[in-house]
Amino acid sequence: MTLGRMALRTCKLLSSSSHFASMQPSTPLFSRQISMEAKGFTARLNSSGLLRTQGLIGGRWTDAYDGKTIEVYNPATGEVVANVPCMGGRETNDAISSAYDAFHSWSKLTAAERSKCLRKWYDLLIAHKEELGQLITLEQGKPLKEAIGEVAYGSSFIEFFAEEAKRVYGDIIPSTLADRRLFVLKQPVGVVGAITPWNFPLAMITRKVGPALACGCTVVIKPSELTPLTALAAAELSLQAGIPPGAVNVVMGNASDIGDALLASPQVRKITFTGSTAVGKKLMAGSAGTVKKVSLELGGNAPCIIFNDADLDVAVKGTLAAKFRNSGQTCVCANRVIVQEGIYEKFANAFANAVQNLQVGDGFSEGVAQGPLINEAAVQKVESFVQDAISKGAKVLLGGKRHSLGMTFYEPTVIGDVKNEMLISREEVFGPVAPLLRFKTEEEAIRIANDTNAGLAAYIFTTNVQRSWRVCEALEYGLVGVNEGLISTEVAPFGGVKQSGLGREGSKYGMDEYLEMKYVCLGNMNSN
Ligand code: NAP
Repeated sequence: MTLGRMALRTCKLLSSSSHFASMQPSTPLFSRQISMEAKGFTARLNSSGLLRTQGLIGGRWTDAYDGKTIEVYNPATGEVVANVPCMGGRETNDAISSAYDAFHSWSKLTAAERSKCLRKWYDLLIAHKEELGQLITLEQGKPLKEAIGEVAYGSSFIEFFAEEAKRVYGDIIPSTLADRRLFVLKQPVGVVGAITPWNFPLAMITRKVGPALACGCTVVIKPSELTPLTALAAAELSLQAGIPPGAVNVVMGNASDIGDALLASPQVRKITFTGSTAVGKKLMAGSAGTVKKVSLELGGNAPCIIFNDADLDVAVKGTLAAKFRNSGQTCVCANRVIVQEGIYEKFANAFANAVQNLQVGDGFSEGVAQGPLINEAAVQKVESFVQDAISKGAKVLLGGKRHSLGMTFYEPTVIGDVKNEMLISREEVFGPVAPLLRFKTEEEAIRIANDTNAGLAAYIFTTNVQRSWRVCEALEYGLVGVNEGLISTEVAPFGGVKQSGLGREGSKYGMDEYLEMKYVCLGNMNSN
């Protein structure tokens, strides 16, 4: 959690004052209209049974043992949507025990039986995609269409891994001795602690829980305190799907206490984490005490390279998608748009024109493409990066300041003449700001692109086939999009190299993260 967020959010016995109290919207009427609409959604969600506001431990909806709660806000209005329990170590230990007990029966089911439960869960997620999308917009802020898109994407992991559950094959190894037979069995790793961020409140959970359950593992999920409601609704649907109590547990609240309990427990055999690199490193170090398996999906610093020979329309469309999805708040968002000098002016103009057309507003309003940033700390980070760039000679081509809507809305921004030494090129801006950098040669582009500790996603735009192969091979990244800005899918392996993480999610490779290999040697075969 960032310091800003820590300062703003604490557990309390009774909720009252607003997290956004110091940030009066500059257009109060607008804010009131949204609030009426959001209230309508909340009421409908409540009646559908999907607005769950307690943690889930061993199949029971549970409050924090000391009664403390945290408020969940609508980032578009600053209003409190719900109060959820502020849990800590004790609740987490009980969730771990429930998951441990459930592991013995869940892992003993046949793959086909587990597959059926997952398929049912997928069907329910899709049947409720509108409500789940509304929940995502309510607590995370992304436009409703994009939120419903996340539900389809997030659910696809449950469908895919329902199918993969039936394909966990072992091996028979030709023996070196005539009286022996050698086998490899693949078995579930055990109880999994899954810690997830706020930017994809559903998909970051299903990408972990889908393969974990498919392999026979059970899970303790810790969603972000900023977006727990989607996680709780998905957990409710998992129960309705017949996934047994204890197989899926959800705790939320005091992140470091929950994290410490997961790390300390010898019953937790795997930590899977998506979030910031700083927290990922802490969890990796903390896992050493009990030597857990670890998967980390951490921050990126994606280069998006536009070559002189790129198709301009394709490059503009692809960069727009890679940069501005979720208002720039994704780990695979283009963080540095690196443009060859021959196409720089043309690209900068066409791109700024396209960005200008992005409508900013509350995610529930028709036609909105850019919602608010998640909180005040996120806006302050964007502001400081933009100021640093300007003070070092970068030029604002579009935007460059808070939006007149107030709250945490920020203008979609394009900045030219950015250098790779500036803060905005060194770290994830995680906001709707596209910095443009110039380069002369292919070698220079590759050097700039690889000049970072991150290695998650990269994008290139070129019509030269040989160049696309050469550059793809030279880029030190886990994912590369060629002439395409949206590349994530459940069927392909997602993950980073260098300090962007360990392991892969999605695809057939995503199963290995939740399996152990057991070598069995059957000897003395020649005796009766
Ligand atoms: P974050 O601050 O690291 O939080 C991620 C999760 O870790 C949250 O649930 C958070 O809880 C929890 N957490 C924080 N401190 C912890 C601790 N000491 N022990 C255990 N858990 C702890 O990251 P974020 O700001 O939510 O997410 C943005 C980051 O995620 C960006 O860097 C982005 O690039 C990265 N990300 C990566 C991927 C990928 O696939 N590589 C995908 C999406 C996002 P609370 O929220 O309750 O504090």
